[in-house]
Amino acid sequence: MRPIAQATLDRLAELFAQDVTSAAAARAVGISKSTATAYRTRLGFPPAPPRSAANRSTLTLEQKWRTYTRAAEGGHLEWTGRHRADTGVMVMTHHGREYTARRVAFLVRTGREPEGTVTAECDHLGCVAPACVEDEPGRTRARGQLAAVLGLATPLTECGRGHATANHRRYDRDGHPYCGACRALTDARKAAA
Ligand SMILES: [Zn+2]
Ligand SMILES: [Zn+2]
Repeated sequence: MRPIAQATLDRLAELFAQDVTSAAAARAVGISKSTATAYRTRLGFPPAPPRSAANRSTLTLEQKWRTYTRAAEGGHLEWTGRHRADTGVMVMTHHGREYTARRVAFLVRTGREPEGTVTAECDHLGCVAPACVEDEPGRTRARGQLAAVLGLATPLTECGRGHATANHRRYDRDGHPYCGACRALTDARKAAA
């Protein structure tokens, strides 16, 4: 266990006596959570009681999500919430669970969980407007319609490697068709190289 100053130890004991969580006590005195937890046990304090329902956000998932959005021109919405440090994905937490901003946007519009990745199909960078997001099937449908309008839709029932068009046809944002199964293979090969 990391040695800490007597004053810090006294302060910790005070906080634990008030049922403050180890994480909050650690923040208050500037030590790591694991160190605070170790001292909690050594000082003989039981784990902090779970946060009461009254301490949880009273906002619904959608209401909390809205507090992290900012209206942009043209009906688009920008995200003012958190980004995952490693991937930059826009995220939020509600009642202890993490959600991506676009998953919630999709839920808000459709009332159901998305299938596959949710993307914004508009040109507004970082948009999270419910009207602008699509899941995998919705995106394929919308882009397929664009491809048809542009005369880019393919009449083939399978790709050169034999993947069925009905299951694997996907489209770029500009409506150009490609085989999703073949692209997944190429991506996997690139990742392995
Ligand atoms: Zn948008
Ligand atoms: Zn293919």
